[in-house]
Amino acid sequence: MSFKNQIIKSNYHTHMYLCRHASGTVEDYVKEAIKLGFKEIGMSDHAPWIELIDRSVRMEKEDYPIYLKELEEAIKKYSDKIKIYKGLEIEYFSNADDYYKKLLNDMDYLTLGQHYIEKDGKLISIYRISSLEDLTIYKDTLIKAMSTGFFKFISHPDIFLYSTEQLTPEILKLAEEIIIAAKEKNIPLEFNANGIRKGKIMVNGEERYRYPRLEFWKLVKKHHARCILSSDAHKPEYLFDEAILEAHKFLQDIHLEVEEVLDFN
Ligand SMILES: [Zn+2]
Ligand SMILES: [Zn+2]
Repeated sequence: MSFKNQIIKSNYHTHMYLCRHASGTVEDYVKEAIKLGFKEIGMSDHAPWIELIDRSVRMEKEDYPIYLKELEEAIKKYSDKIKIYKGLEIEYFSNADDYYKKLLNDMDYLTLGQHYIEKDGKLISIYRISSLEDLTIYKDTLIKAMSTGFFKFISHPDIFLYSTEQLTPEILKLAEEIIIAAKEKNIPLEFNANGIRKGKIMVNGEERYRYPRLEFWKLVKKHHARCILSSDAHKPEYLFDEAILEAHKFLQDIHLEVEEVLDFN
């Protein structure tokens, strides 16, 4: 099914085939974005991270030059039609500053997609955390990451609530601390349409998404923090689909305004 796009002017969270769980080349996404009338597109595939346990869902180090080449070629070919930014999605881990700096030599931006927390020297998937202690580590990691200046926006900041049913006042306070830090650092928080693509779950007789989480975005509204809507596209056709429309409606329902384009300069 195809829709006529009248609501989205950009997308800065875009994957491609090199991460092994998305399809399409950089050019495929750029052509789709032009077709949709976007002003800007930012590619942000999963950055290589050799020691990470989930190597199979991000690009290999050897694939990185291919990514760069595809980006450069697309920029050469389409820059009269659309503004293309070179980016990567990556976690924040301590003692890796040199790596972020190295990537930023080539890239226009990094977006923080924190899929793991570091605890006792081990990595734990954020899909499996639910104790206040672990959720607090996630919060601390995000706040630390935001203070480094490496990250242009925070992808799915509310994903840490994935396995948490009941949002207690203590947990909502963690959410609020993240939001206040983002506001202070002037870093946009991303409302992620890929969470909507994953569908709703039934909890205590109520249907909801695992993320985006309503309570979190109401707090974003309360604090007037900066906010963008991203597709987190893993297929070119996801740049504008039912999930984007649903996300748009979700945001309208809580009167939360998102920025149409980001200034990367
Ligand atoms: Zn992905
Ligand atoms: Zn992503």
